[in-house]
Amino acid sequence: MVNPAEAEVQSKTSERQMVPELLVSPEGTAPSYLQLRIAEIASSAGEPMKTNALRILFVIAGVAGLILAANAQETTGQHLPIIDMHLHAHTLSMYGTPPPAVCTNDQEIVFPGWDPREPLRLEGTGNQAMSCPLRLKAPATDDQLLLQTIHLLERYNIRAVTSGPLDEVTKWHHSASDRIIPAVPFDDYEKRDPEAFRQLFKEGKFAVFAEISSQYHGLSPADGSLEPYFALAEELDIPVGIHMGEGPPGAAYLWSSKYRARLTSPFLLEEVLVRHPRLRVYAMHYGSPLVDEMLAMLFSHPQLYVDVSGNDWMLPRKEFHSHLRRLVEAGFGKRIMFGSDEMVWPQTIKVAIESIESAEFLNEEQRRDIFCRNAARFLRLDLTSCNSQLENKPRL
Ligand SMILES: [Zn+2]
Repeated sequence: MVNPAEAEVQSKTSERQMVPELLVSPEGTAPSYLQLRIAEIASSAGEPMKTNALRILFVIAGVAGLILAANAQETTGQHLPIIDMHLHAHTLSMYGTPPPAVCTNDQEIVFPGWDPREPLRLEGTGNQAMSCPLRLKAPATDDQLLLQTIHLLERYNIRAVTSGPLDEVTKWHHSASDRIIPAVPFDDYEKRDPEAFRQLFKEGKFAVFAEISSQYHGLSPADGSLEPYFALAEELDIPVGIHMGEGPPGAAYLWSSKYRARLTSPFLLEEVLVRHPRLRVYAMHYGSPLVDEMLAMLFSHPQLYVDVSGNDWMLPRKEFHSHLRRLVEAGFGKRIMFGSDEMVWPQTIKVAIESIESAEFLNEEQRRDIFCRNAARFLRLDLTSCNSQLENKPRL
């Protein structure tokens, strides 16, 4: 999704506060140790009281140590590496003041509908484009947004293709150069001619063209105005990520008046691929919900990849899983890449990861492909960097 610059926000009904990540104990690790220790205490019932008291003291010390160790592991990246093909270096003001709180698919999401007598709202009571029991709120400041996002990248051992205005992307890259792979679009924010991008690329200011937002501008990817940029990307072998899928619900009425659903069609990308056969392109959001068309494109254009960003936390999870399952069962599991489409709600990264982990139809090999190997192959990174901790810190 791109930024809803003119988001109008109604008062919120129910929201989840952003929990300061640095204060959160890692889920899954410490509690399981804790449960083991509690079971140990229970099994010692009947021993003399003094012994038990000592045991409990040892156990408390042990558990504290384990939690500290688990925290240390989390922050140094105990998770197998993940590549996020779709992160944003944005500012809160790009989403309204304050940004709306959003629904995530770790709970039920519905799209209730709109009575056009009233303005369409993304949130609030009645006339909601999207509704759920508890909404996720953005952090209070841009500094918190950056800190919380980088912390999550560390926690989940993620390198992320990170797009936005060049100044923001550069700032984020300087904050965590081993985590942030800088990306800029050629059709958004500051307009530049192809030669200016050639120079910026030569200077190492960016490594990927993303997120191309032609759909939000009412343009087909094959529109002539974009042609010189695709030619440049092909010549310099720069990967291109292009938005093809849902934006925010009701996008054309909320903040992207030129957004059109029909421009989701993956077939619109076909002429670009044929004109530029050496171009590396990935369709962000896999042309959702037009999975049939995307299957035809993946079959006919073996160089094409997709990411599952945004859909992995914004679509009802069952619907997302049905899309993902079709793509995998059709034989394209080697060309599906993880993405979060994190904008200004850092916890969406966690929900996006859970959406892949909870897909019961995937085996571990398929998950590793989606989380890392497919993106490493597409980005021409060392594939072995997907198998272990982030030690060599490969960079683009
Ligand atoms: Zn997008």
